[in-house]
Amino acid sequence: MCGIFGYVGKQQNAAEFVLSGLKLLEYRGYDSWGIALKISNSKSQISNSRQNRDSKFITEKHIGKIGNAQLSSNDLRSNLAIGHTRWATHGGVIVENAHPHLDCKKEIAVIHNGIIENYARIKEGLLKKGHKFVSETDTEIIPHLIEEFLKKEGFASAVRDAFNQLKGLNAIVVANSLSRQIIAAKTGSPLVIGKGNEGFFVASDATGIIKHTRKLLFLKDREMVILGDDVELLTLPSGKKKILRFEQIDWKIEDVEKGKFDHFMLKEIYEQPKVVRNIAENYTSQIKELKKLIDKAKGTFLIGAGTAFHACLAGSYFFSKIANIHINTTVASEFNYLEDFLNSKSLIIALSQSGETIDVIEPLNHAKEKGSKIIAITNALGSTIYRMADYKLLLGAGPEKAVASTKAYIAKVALLLMLSYAVAGKVNRAKKLLLDASREIDILLSKKNILKIKKIASIINSSEHLYTIGRGTSFSTALESALKIKEVSYLHTEGLAGGELKHGPIALISKGTPCVVFAPQDETFDAIISNATEIKSRGGLIIGVGPKKSPIFDYWIKIKDVSEAQIIPHVVFAQILAYYLSVERGHDPDKPRNLAKSVTVK
Ligand code: GLU
Repeated sequence: MCGIFGYVGKQQNAAEFVLSGLKLLEYRGYDSWGIALKISNSKSQISNSRQNRDSKFITEKHIGKIGNAQLSSNDLRSNLAIGHTRWATHGGVIVENAHPHLDCKKEIAVIHNGIIENYARIKEGLLKKGHKFVSETDTEIIPHLIEEFLKKEGFASAVRDAFNQLKGLNAIVVANSLSRQIIAAKTGSPLVIGKGNEGFFVASDATGIIKHTRKLLFLKDREMVILGDDVELLTLPSGKKKILRFEQIDWKIEDVEKGKFDHFMLKEIYEQPKVVRNIAENYTSQIKELKKLIDKAKGTFLIGAGTAFHACLAGSYFFSKIANIHINTTVASEFNYLEDFLNSKSLIIALSQSGETIDVIEPLNHAKEKGSKIIAITNALGSTIYRMADYKLLLGAGPEKAVASTKAYIAKVALLLMLSYAVAGKVNRAKKLLLDASREIDILLSKKNILKIKKIASIINSSEHLYTIGRGTSFSTALESALKIKEVSYLHTEGLAGGELKHGPIALISKGTPCVVFAPQDETFDAIISNATEIKSRGGLIIGVGPKKSPIFDYWIKIKDVSEAQIIPHVVFAQILAYYLSVERGHDPDKPRNLAKSVTVK
């Protein structure tokens, strides 16, 4: 977690490139930020920096989100700069702990993503050798360790030797003010290199780079790249040279900007009809290929974390209901403890928006050791999970910038629906249902419905708790809705299977407690209405979602039934509610506190 951005080249706007790159990457971490640059003009000054000699890095660091921040000096001609938005793991959120971190001479600057498991021991050795530390982070050992190695070897070997000593899953970017080079290396966490006309970019994802260049290289684990006048790729730990090939990607600038919307979350909610239509219209042949793998496997397992897990849960209901096959699902971080039975005939379907979720990568590594096959369903071309998989399916949802996932969730559910219909030999039926679901989202996004949902948000806004309930496929909807609402609005929300209420949670219902009831006209309708009635009898306020109005609903959001695909518009209702609750309660829906977009630590 954390945003990384760097530039080295002929242009003198490195500071500006890094600052605007960080702004686009802020969704990856936002407790503090910082930038280090080597200025080309010795008259320049950054207010909170003491050093201003040409060979030294100067830094500027701040607590909090980068937002629309500017650097304190506007005279910063530089052709070498790196910057970071932090998601603290080691050391509190204070200016001193913000990255980049420097060596004693201030000629080496480092930004880092991950956790160095053996940092304490390395730090002890460095302190004995006289190195001075200014932060509590694990990261700060890296520049000092490189400084040590530089006493006996060149920059590239020093970075390689230092990096090889680090335990854990890490990505680092190191800048050298004397050699005017940037070196990036990783064993985990994403790093992308961009080749521009007059220089090189490095970032934790393509978002910040594409306005400069679409020629990208996705760094693999145990690779190191040296950027300066030229580019070189090496294997770690050996340092052997590798052939490198830049890929051309086709994202558009509009995909990574907010446009007319106040927040990315809202923009991404509005993109969903298009995302679902795209899946209905363009995925048939890929889905049919995956169907063959499921047919062949002896045991298929769906894994995902957070929102992706809820999509997995929806998937296991789909496979049971539509294709009459049992597919297990588990929270990815628990799969490690449950996978003893895997063998070479097993198939794992791993879901991850970023393709970098460590909780998914770890069990996949173990599954691979056992020879199991892996299907990756992810939104990120070239990501770790994408590369690990034997078969890959891209969500095609476009970049998702809001921390709370919306369109990627919907895309995952749509793909699993299509896959289950393909296994049942009825893929065309899925296409029709998805097109119908996409129309229902359009209707939900009409002015009239948005006003209605906004009104509900203002009514329940000051509640202490909110409950969401559903049965069958709508159980996953209840879980995902609760997650979305709590993560962006901080209103405590719990998602439950309708039948579970009476086993405990109903004790929490009192006068006015709001409860969202997902009531599609399927086999769950009568039972979920009974559960809603139990809540109503205890004073609860019922918000019903479904095609048919029930007298027990205090508010009703009408959504036409589209068979199993109905959970798609149902979740969209909850996303809109979550968004407006967040705004009403004065929060930033794009960057909820304590969270980061791609969770690359355990
Ligand atoms: N472990 C480092 C720190 O706490 C890196 C955190 C990050 O990935 O943002 O500063």
